[in-house]
Amino acid sequence: MADRTLECLRCGGPMEQGFVADKAHYSVPETQNWVEGVPERTFWSGIKLKGKEVLRVMTYRCEKCGYLESYANK
Ligand SMILES: [Zn+2]
Repeated sequence: MADRTLECLRCGGPMEQGFVADKAHYSVPETQNWVEGVPERTFWSGIKLKGKEVLRVMTYRCEKCGYLESYANK
């Protein structure tokens, strides 16, 4: 995926690789993660991730129009 040149679905411009930073743990920047299923809240840790599949989300940005496209690859 990283070495493939993506084209913007909106305008056909070049897509540049990146990620959307999330402040997940104690304000330390993290990538967005994709988690399978529906969010289950727990008292101590917010949303339960244990036993669920978690994938890092890569987001591509169009250099021309700014359109964002996200992928959660294994
Ligand atoms: Zn575009």
